Amino acid sequence: MIPGALMNRVLAVNIDLDDLRFYRGIHALPQQPENAEIFKLGLPRFLDLCERHEIKATLFVITDDLKIPGVSEAIRDAARRGHEIASHTRSHDYGISRRDPDSIAAELAGSRRDILNACGIEPTGFRGPGYNLTPDLLDGLIRAGFLYDTSIMSSPPYWLARALIIAAMAATGRKSSSITGRARDFFRGHRPFVWGGPGKGLVEFPITTAGPLFLPLIGTTLAGRGALVRQAVTIARGREFVNIEFHGIDFLDREADGLEPELLVEPALKIPLAERMHNFDLALRMLGEGRRSPTLATLAASFNAS
Ligand SMILES: [Zn+2]
Repeated sequence: MIPGALMNRVLAVNIDLDDLRFYRGIHALPQQPENAEIFKLGLPRFLDLCERHEIKATLFVITDDLKIPGVSEAIRDAARRGHEIASHTRSHDYGISRRDPDSIAAELAGSRRDILNACGIEPTGFRGPGYNLTPDLLDGLIRAGFLYDTSIMSSPPYWLARALIIAAMAATGRKSSSITGRARDFFRGHRPFVWGGPGKGLVEFPITTAGPLFLPLIGTTLAGRGALVRQAVTIARGREFVNIEFHGIDFLDREADGLEPELLVEPALKIPLAERMHNFDLALRMLGEGRRSPTLATLAASFNAS
């Protein structure tokens, strides 16, 4: 159930600020010296985009990254500009949802403490790595005091494609740091809901997917303008609630930002940054028409109060 006045025509925009070392891990590429490109180059471009469209965004931070020089300053600056800071775990362990409850609790409490120490803000939102959840992780979120989760992406084809890629890598002797995950979480629809029923306290904001192929509205897809993307955006425009997920890497340029050519395995980087930014602008203009764009924390607070 969506409280009418609350969810009426909302566009939520958020970004996972995964450092480049995680992409090198996924693709089994050699690590490079830390230059914090995601935070120093990508994040300002994302914030400018949001502010052009009067969007208050939510930033999901892997809190171990707050130790990288310059990162906590960049995050604090975003918070000062009215954007929300939320947790994307402390370590970005793709297997966090499978760990024992005590270990999950330590990771979640640690990530909240890291954000409090670095920014003076107590985060209320969470996104897990790789769209994976388990009952233990959901219990841990409630116990740690989170008000909402936004890890669900209802896209069965995405789940299948990722499972095939991980299997293909394993077959050629390469180990991906990503995991296949719980299939049923990729069949949960596109409307916000409360885990365990109303009054339990943990709101779920699914990342929007649309169209016959359940195309996710994420940076990788919105970077292009093919027929399937246009169709998914058109369908999403008719819905009350739209939740778009970007990643920091969506706002980097392989060549201009001096990234190694091997990172071109990441689909978003294959399109020149100027063209991507143009397409992001177009998508946000279409999806934002006649909508409010508050942070997910603002939405979760009124969801729980209603
Ligand atoms: Zn991530």
